[in-house]
Amino acid sequence: MARPWNFSAGPSAMPLEVLQQAAQEMTDWHGSGMSVMEMSHRGKHFGRIRDEAESDLRELLSIPDDFAVLFMQGGATAENAIVPLNLIGRRDTGKADYVTSGIWSNKSLKEAGRYGDIAVAASSGETAVIGGIEQQPWTWFPAVRNWRVRSDAAYVHLCGNETIGGVEFVDYPDLAEHGAPDVALVVDVSSHFLSRPIDFSRVHVAYAGAQKNAGPAGLTVVVIRRDMLGHALPVCPTAFDYANVAAADSMFNTPPTYAIYMAGLVFKWLKRQGGIAAIEAANIEKSAAMYGYIDASDLYVNKVHAGSRSRMNVPFFLRDEQLNASFLAGAEQAGLMQLKGHKSVGGMRASIYNAVPLEGVRALINYMRDFERRHG
Ligand code: PMP
Repeated sequence: MARPWNFSAGPSAMPLEVLQQAAQEMTDWHGSGMSVMEMSHRGKHFGRIRDEAESDLRELLSIPDDFAVLFMQGGATAENAIVPLNLIGRRDTGKADYVTSGIWSNKSLKEAGRYGDIAVAASSGETAVIGGIEQQPWTWFPAVRNWRVRSDAAYVHLCGNETIGGVEFVDYPDLAEHGAPDVALVVDVSSHFLSRPIDFSRVHVAYAGAQKNAGPAGLTVVVIRRDMLGHALPVCPTAFDYANVAAADSMFNTPPTYAIYMAGLVFKWLKRQGGIAAIEAANIEKSAAMYGYIDASDLYVNKVHAGSRSRMNVPFFLRDEQLNASFLAGAEQAGLMQLKGHKSVGGMRASIYNAVPLEGVRALINYMRDFERRHG
């Protein structure tokens, strides 16, 4: 039976080749006589798996040597606490600033409030007129010129891709040009990790839950400039102190070994696709096809400002909401799964991560066109 196309926002589609390789290696990894999940994390087999995962990730994202790669647990939600616990003490002010652009960055802001003097640097939580078009709250990204970053803040935090709102931002500022040369930039890259390059000349810390583009849930990847290490507050749990995790090569305690192995297979798959440049080109083509079709149609609408539309998560609404249930039922019948929008915004959402090929996007567009013809 053919596998359906999976548009889940996360955990989400994995490359079939990776699943097949994992299945083949399930009970005996490379003649070791063991499944990866049965191996000691301190043994030579897993050591090789971990080291290759890190070096492949470094190669894919051109991660500079003065950055550490950490394999952690707790998801991006735990990072909402782990980031301030580790970084807010970098400067004795205990201050950090947050840019809010949707549900995920607001959760980050709220959690950080438990640990220091937190301020909103900029927010898209209001209506704005951009290029003559009125934009609803959380459908645009605040322009850098309007950020108010306190020069004595330890860091400014933003969410690079709002998975629910479908708002993406990657034009990271040079904070020195904004009167804040000593402020670090921290980015939640969970839902666009590995879909495009990351400019590590601007970003000091990038973190991502693995379960969208990198592998199974349970693994969090943190890429952090080494001078950000060693500033944890005394109350920071030892296992979440970035300096401890870095010093132990992510083996401070038992890491999520199987998830690291699976992510490592995804990294090798990405390299075989041609690396980040090739996958980015595919993502541009896929997202352009989706938005192009939606904008031209009379039945569907995407409300995100054109300059801030996510390449990974495409939320859309049917102009006649009465049709939602029949749209979803028909989609499932056509082998197009998990298209229901997040409950907080309603409508539909197609997450078109790295593992969803152009063919899957075309199948979705064909279905949408056919549905519009029947109901438009
Ligand atoms: N940030 C973003 C951008 C997300 O998409 C998510 C999960 N969808 C989270 C944070 C929270 O991640 P987790 O559930 O892994 O804690």
